[in-house]
Amino acid sequence: MAQRVKRGPDSKGRFGPYGGQYVPETVMYALAELEMSYRKLKKDKSFLAELRGYLSDYVGRPSPLYFAERFTAYLKGPKVYFKREDLNHTGAHKINNTVGQILLAKHMGKKRIIAETGAGQHGLATATVCARFGMECIIYMGAVDIKRQASNVEKMKLLGAKVVTVESGSKTLKDATSQAMRDWVTNIRSTFYIIGSVVGPHPYPMLVRDFQSIIGKETKRQCQKKFRRLPDAIIACVGGGSNAIGIFDSFINEKSVKLIGVEAAGHGLNSGQHAATLSKGKPGVLHGSYSYLVYDNDGQIILPHSISAGLDYPGVGPEHSALSDTGQVKYFSATDKQALAAFELVSKLEGIIPALETSHALAYLIAHKKEFKARQNVVVCLSGRGDKDMPIFFEKEKA
Ligand SMILES: *Cc1c(COP(=O)(O)O)cnc(C)c1O
Repeated sequence: MAQRVKRGPDSKGRFGPYGGQYVPETVMYALAELEMSYRKLKKDKSFLAELRGYLSDYVGRPSPLYFAERFTAYLKGPKVYFKREDLNHTGAHKINNTVGQILLAKHMGKKRIIAETGAGQHGLATATVCARFGMECIIYMGAVDIKRQASNVEKMKLLGAKVVTVESGSKTLKDATSQAMRDWVTNIRSTFYIIGSVVGPHPYPMLVRDFQSIIGKETKRQCQKKFRRLPDAIIACVGGGSNAIGIFDSFINEKSVKLIGVEAAGHGLNSGQHAATLSKGKPGVLHGSYSYLVYDNDGQIILPHSISAGLDYPGVGPEHSALSDTGQVKYFSATDKQALAAFELVSKLEGIIPALETSHALAYLIAHKKEFKARQNVVVCLSGRGDKDMPIFFEKEKA
């Protein structure tokens, strides 16, 4: 039996020293209300049955665990399996979480939904469930991201969401999140804020993890069925860290499984233009939570850079900061260039176009294939599909 180490958060909403609730007093009440409702509902059989129903019939779960035969042959290394979150409704893992949170909102009697989005995948997943449940939906998105991810913006509008362009700061995910927080403070009674990753104040990192943990639960079962044992390693890309914690969750106490998170190194770890929070950052407070961040010598958050809008965030979930400190998960990074090469290679070898975010995890495996043995089984979390990234890929091709 694997040893059960007590998992966070503790009663103060912390993972080791990380996490917590750095928010104004009005928000404290809303967070307490949310936590109480969640703790009650997660033990409620009819709520859980409702959630399971939407995950199977609306999202399309379980997602397959697919043996990537030609990619494996190309690597001449370990056997590689893709956990196919790209096959979920709306094309990424994000919907696992938005389905969970919209059900919470419904049971709490909230009718107005707000969310932030970077690549547009979380905005799309939120707009989708708002349409399904007939709720008002406001999505905050940076002007730069709106330009990079036009097709997702069009989809959100078609689904009936109001997309608010954020023109402040770097006009990307960080600023969209700040604006969504301001909206929440103003409209706290009527509004449910659906956060898209394992970030923000407690209890969000916990509840987003719990809703995404279905990825790891299925993976564990599927590995037993496919090769009769646990995988040797699991690799996932890390923006805020929700697909990674979702797939790692069932394996954190399994000492034989190497867990690897891959951040965005942008133009390179020493370029000053990256989003490699755990590799290059220091702890600080952002968006209501204490965690690793990238900031300059004056304590100002630096403008992160990644070719993939979904990884372009200067923070990371507090649980990842704790898992990094303890060494339970190892964190590495991949550059824009490596991700683009992996994007093209996997498209051509497998007929699967991975998201640019996901391509960072694939790029890590390509660069580190010699560290694995042929008899080993490696699972990559295929967090999303890459259709949304086509214009970026072809623009880079021309350059
Ligand atoms: C949003 C997104 C990510 C990054 O978010 P995490 O919370 O780190 O998972 C990764 N992959 C895809 C496809 C995404 O849409």
